[in-house]
Amino acid sequence: MDEQKTIASLGEFPLIEKFFSTLTSEDALPAAQGVGDDAALLSIPRTQQLLTTTDTLVEGVHFNSDMDPFLLGQKALRVNLSDLAAMGAKPHWYLLALSLPANTSEAWLEEFSRGLKVAGEQFSISLVGGDTTRSKGCISVTLTLFGLIGKERAILRSGAQEGDSIFVTGTIGDSTLGLAQRMGQLRISDPEALIFLKHRHQQPTPRVDAGIALVERAIARAAIDISDGLIADLSHICRASNLAAEIYGEKIPFSPAATTLLQESEQDLFPHLLTGGEDYELLFTAAKGSLTQIKEIAENLDLPITEIGVMKKGEPGVTLLRDGAIFPLKNKGWSHF
Ligand code: ADP
Ligand code: MG
Repeated sequence: MDEQKTIASLGEFPLIEKFFSTLTSEDALPAAQGVGDDAALLSIPRTQQLLTTTDTLVEGVHFNSDMDPFLLGQKALRVNLSDLAAMGAKPHWYLLALSLPANTSEAWLEEFSRGLKVAGEQFSISLVGGDTTRSKGCISVTLTLFGLIGKERAILRSGAQEGDSIFVTGTIGDSTLGLAQRMGQLRISDPEALIFLKHRHQQPTPRVDAGIALVERAIARAAIDISDGLIADLSHICRASNLAAEIYGEKIPFSPAATTLLQESEQDLFPHLLTGGEDYELLFTAAKGSLTQIKEIAENLDLPITEIGVMKKGEPGVTLLRDGAIFPLKNKGWSHF
């Protein structure tokens, strides 16, 4: 393909046909009507509820203009999938609203579309429609996802109960370390650790299967995905459930790469790992007696799930203890404004 050929010479409808008409997954429910009519037509099974979520990524705000479009396509889908995972839904369909400057190259769009295809197949979700417009400045990508869940089974932020244990999937803080390295704020000398941490930032793994498993066994009482940082997102559960949370620093799961950096770095990275965000792990609460079942889920999915604290009566908010003492947190998490 001619690297320089722009989408302006292609035209809107051939563009949609070429890059967005076949991004379907065999494992998603087929749309009664997908891309190509005025609206997508979706059949919802009688026993299910529809969950929907949307997110926008803007060039210069959420990604740099030099970001690899293949990774951008994947990441856009992955971060949205994480929101469905947090409620326990099975993803099925999505819409794509795309604004592009006329000088965007066809090669860029091809790679972006390939990123969506790969992630869509991996996580079983089909593109069923969207909108394509010209922008005068930057690229903007908005995805709207649709998932299904059994009636009344969705896990809400508001369901935590006093005495619930608090759990997280995977490891915390890798993504923020990957980002800090890219911004030149952190040196990572071990090449393997560098690859791992960069990957965790660029290609977060939405915990779709974990969300579904928690719903199947009706274990989680409240859940959220960690996008703004462990502390900030746990605070959301506290507020929605009107409870306090106490978590224990020494129980928080860090990857080997993060652990090494924690030990070696001159500055204390510990608070940054808990507030940096973009982990896209699930944080959920469950009754004390659920531990055995949670261990089974962790084993089946080959995904660590770690108990890090407890929900308590009290003013909504998070208390972090480290070696028995309260660890003060200044910056609680990422906020756009
Ligand atoms: P309308 O003018 O009726 O709103 P459009 O011309 O915007 O329809 O779109 C034509 C068809 O192509 C629709 O089915 C729409 O959902 C689909 N579509 C447009 N842009 C995209 C996109 N970026 N990704 C997927 N489908 C798209
Ligand atoms: Mg129309």
